[in-house]
Amino acid sequence: MMAGWCKKNMNNLVLSLVPKFTNLQVLILRQDSPQLQDVAVETIASYCSDLQELDLSKSFRLTDRSLYALARGCPNLVKLNISGCSAFSDTAVAYLSGFCRKLKILNLCGCVKAASDRALKVIGYNCDQLQSINLGWCDRVGDEGVKSLAYGCPDLQALDFCGCVLITDESVIALANNCRHLRSLGLYFCKNITDRAMYSLAHSRVKNKHEMWASVKKNRYEEEGLTNLNISQCTALTPPAVQALCDSFPALHTCSGRHSLIISGCLSLTSVHCACAVQAHRTTPAMAHLAH
Ligand SMILES: [Zn+2]
Repeated sequence: MMAGWCKKNMNNLVLSLVPKFTNLQVLILRQDSPQLQDVAVETIASYCSDLQELDLSKSFRLTDRSLYALARGCPNLVKLNISGCSAFSDTAVAYLSGFCRKLKILNLCGCVKAASDRALKVIGYNCDQLQSINLGWCDRVGDEGVKSLAYGCPDLQALDFCGCVLITDESVIALANNCRHLRSLGLYFCKNITDRAMYSLAHSRVKNKHEMWASVKKNRYEEEGLTNLNISQCTALTPPAVQALCDSFPALHTCSGRHSLIISGCLSLTSVHCACAVQAHRTTPAMAHLAH
């Protein structure tokens, strides 16, 4: 009874309010249980052409009809969260990317059907301003799709491939070579990732020496480059490769309280240490010297 009432209420709320807010730019429709139906999204699409940010997460009752409506009605979308909308197809997501070409932040976490390599190729072609994409648990995603993103979207800063079991070093190498502003990478449970991927990331920093020195001069060395990396459950990795990465990116921390390099579940990596450990080691003898 309660769920039925909520379902009706959520849709009625959108249907009755949205037509009165035609200048709406941000609309967050978070739900505990899926209430939204296509007719609500079609209403949003027909009244809110200025919409820039839309959150429809966990609306698994929505079908492709919603994405087709958004594509035609909301060409200015910059941020779209459709995580958990498991009914969407790759055809509809690819179609949307052809109209919403200003997209910068796209959350497809759990959209297993939608996030195919075919869809990612089209997204990589259409959305060259993309900065952040979440493909968590989209286990059909492979190297072909990720490489299309790496080549098509040079501004990418954050990617989450948590549970994308098919991707290999090829994906990470393409990102390391093409995406200069990479800040955050989630590779949780990507079992095929090896040391090659870690070295390619570490070397991308060195290759980029000119920009690196420019940022050192501006005191921004730690503000650029990788600041978050999750390699938890990537069991093929070895300490020298991960240490090389840590040394290249001082913002990656393994120390308690600053877990920006997440290695839990990788028992072989316990010897990897962040810049803090090196500093502590250096500071002690210097302090002892001063005391004399
Ligand atoms: Zn640290």
